[in-house]
Amino acid sequence: MKFGGTSVADPAAIERLIGIVRRQTVSGARSAPVVVVSALAGVTDALVAITQLAEEGEADRAAAALRALVDRHVEVATAVTSGSRARLVDEVTREFDELAGLVHALAVLREVSPRSRDAVLASGEIVSSRIVAAAFNDCGVRASWVDARTVLVTDAEHTAAAPDMDETRARAIAALAPLGEDGTVAVLGGFIGATPAGITSTLGRGGSDYSAAIFGASLDADEIQIWTDVDGMLTADPRIVPQPRLVPRLSFAEASELAYFGAKVLHPSTILPAVTKNIPVRILNSRRPENAGTMIASNGAPASGQLTAIACKRDVTVIDITSTRMLMAHGFLRRLFEVFERFRTAVDVVTTSEVSVSVTVDDTRRLDAILDNLHHFAEASCEREMAIICAVGENLRSDPMLFGRAVTALDSIPLRLVSQAASRRNITFVLRDADVPHAMMRLHETFFR
Ligand code: ASP
Ligand code: MG
Repeated sequence: MKFGGTSVADPAAIERLIGIVRRQTVSGARSAPVVVVSALAGVTDALVAITQLAEEGEADRAAAALRALVDRHVEVATAVTSGSRARLVDEVTREFDELAGLVHALAVLREVSPRSRDAVLASGEIVSSRIVAAAFNDCGVRASWVDARTVLVTDAEHTAAAPDMDETRARAIAALAPLGEDGTVAVLGGFIGATPAGITSTLGRGGSDYSAAIFGASLDADEIQIWTDVDGMLTADPRIVPQPRLVPRLSFAEASELAYFGAKVLHPSTILPAVTKNIPVRILNSRRPENAGTMIASNGAPASGQLTAIACKRDVTVIDITSTRMLMAHGFLRRLFEVFERFRTAVDVVTTSEVSVSVTVDDTRRLDAILDNLHHFAEASCEREMAIICAVGENLRSDPMLFGRAVTALDSIPLRLVSQAASRRNITFVLRDADVPHAMMRLHETFFR
């Protein structure tokens, strides 16, 4: 059970969390859950700001910012505990004292290496998990704090470390499984780990979901629950489509298509450990725990005639490349994509005809150089302020009518590119960015009303 920053933001949130976990401990599960928590809402951002102050040599301002964090944590720790209050406050203060020493040293050096940055950022999860573990015990839920850095082993790519799954699995089984069997809730910080040498590392921003999936996969959990502040995945972005619906269930493949489009509920890599082990991931709202949320599993189950969700990516650029040399020639596409490779620019959508290729790119920093290089062997032009809309659904594989309905829904809107790849789980439309709201609304009406 992973609880994000807003689900541990303040004493009231932590009390809700305890209620949610308590209900699952008594519900006859085969073992107590493992709980993974983020830093309190906003704390990681505050720690990032502190590293920036340190880099600028602003020792006093960094120290002041840190004191505000100590006060907030002590206040929360005090509010959610009783018997273990003194010990917890002591632990929290000690953790921050150490951090203050580190931050001061960094401010003197005016240098924050990735490794130091991880040491600073990790504090948020270390203290939040200690607070939650103590609060459990004081509320009669037997719990044990486990330092995630002794379980989650990573490489030394600081700020974006990758887990060593074999070693982590062995350690998780040794450290966490006995607690669960004994009915004790193990509480760990997400996002953090350590290298084999024991140096603190982090998985990258938003990495707590990933931690939860890593621990869940290591322990062959029945389910990985991501408790957050929304009801689950929605059929469309509520900022664009008023009143989208909740997606009750989607497949791993659909989820990864959507994650790319910034359907922000899940960190994309979260899916990986769960997919490998075929463990369902459920997104749940900690303010409305009785809701079923969104279940992401190996097979989706959209109602027939339905798509699963639509998503969009705005402000992309289309590059059109035309060359008569392409006609019946081989090696043309290789040359073309080599240009994008040379300038390290990712291509998202690709469509081709016999003499032309159109691609979309999101990152336009090297666009001029790319166009110059393409001009060596083709005509190339670009069009900005375009967007990608992606309609996702397992049903697209079995129901050929869906494609036609989607295109018909957009009949009044000029479509620049249309593509459907081999997976046939999505249809991709490229259109003018200005047409996005209208197009999203039309598609949503067609498939979700
Ligand atoms: N606290 C970390 C962050 O804000 C990790 C997480 O919340 O997932 O990036
Ligand atoms: Mg977060």
